[in-house]
Amino acid sequence: MEKIDIRSMNFSEISKALSGILEKNYRIRQVYEWILKGVSSFDEMTNLPKELREKLKHYCVFPSFHIKDKKISQDLTVKYLFELEDGECIESVLMKYKHGYSICISTQAGCKMGCCFCQTGKGGFSRNLTPGEMISQIQAIQRDMNIKISNVVLMGMGEPLDNYENVVKFLELLSSSDHLNIGMRHISLSTCGVVSKIYKLADKKFPITLSVSLHASNDYIRSKLMKVNSSWNIKELLDACKYFISRVGRRISFEYVMIKGLNDSPECAKELASTLKGMLCHVNLIPLNKSVVELEKSPKASIYKFKNILEGQGIATTIRRTLAEDIEGACGQLKGSHIPKEV
Ligand code: SAH
Ligand code: SF4
Repeated sequence: MEKIDIRSMNFSEISKALSGILEKNYRIRQVYEWILKGVSSFDEMTNLPKELREKLKHYCVFPSFHIKDKKISQDLTVKYLFELEDGECIESVLMKYKHGYSICISTQAGCKMGCCFCQTGKGGFSRNLTPGEMISQIQAIQRDMNIKISNVVLMGMGEPLDNYENVVKFLELLSSSDHLNIGMRHISLSTCGVVSKIYKLADKKFPITLSVSLHASNDYIRSKLMKVNSSWNIKELLDACKYFISRVGRRISFEYVMIKGLNDSPECAKELASTLKGMLCHVNLIPLNKSVVELEKSPKASIYKFKNILEGQGIATTIRRTLAEDIEGACGQLKGSHIPKEV
């Protein structure tokens, strides 16, 4: 018998799955309310008689999910390391902005995509996260900090579009008024460019912000940095982005990590500007976070010059605020600090 994962389900799916188990409808509503509160076990569902809790344990899973580590930076960014039922570890980052709290969540334990500047990529892939494990990251932090999160970005460990079905289910749960009720306009999804899934996602017409990790102005440089460019090149990626814009009507945010001597020259900026000209988009320049490799971040002056060239060509450009540098802010680094050096 495959056990039921009620934390990955909406109310009507839970009602159907539990109808023969709990019999009375109000009991199902009680279970759902506990799930929305983010409890971490059936035993916390205290208004359910013990025998019903035991019955639930028999038919359903409630995978453990606990905070293994937490680091608070001087700028009040909080980085969490969570341990999952099977011992895998993932991380999430809470950021405070003027308008509220934003959380960056993981969608996979590890990542297959192997981008050379990324520590998660270096660590390899373990498994996909379930929709429930994505929801749990938000609930656990809300409970721990006693706050309400208003924005969610899928930009932690993993490639969201390589876990497409679970991520779509998660987006539906997250935005549902009967669940966490965080509207799609407050959600961003970052992809390294899994083109086939960008088309699928566009057809869903979810009004989320799509961030695309471009990181290069031509295929020669991009192929050096990102393995995914050998499956889909820049032209194929941009065609998919244009399709997304036409279906969803929202501008794309292109992420561009600035690496000294590799992709940060004025020529690269000019080439990027001509490639993106006319597209409904925005470019976000990211200072490289020193990770595992022998790459160096671009000097500030090169980043500003790059920005000015893009803006001179009419392309809206921002430089990402670097958060949490004192607590190893880069993708994958908190987890990395827990892995013994010899392994
Ligand atoms: N897999 C998705 C989302 C997770 S990575 C993606 O690649 O888009 C989130 C972002 O962090 C991506 O834009 C990625 O390129 C960036 N990133 C990874 N390693 C980095 C580093 N060392 N410094 C700066 N940004 C990094
Ligand atoms: Fe995976 Fe994104 Fe890291 Fe590339 S940058 S290895 S896609 S997590």
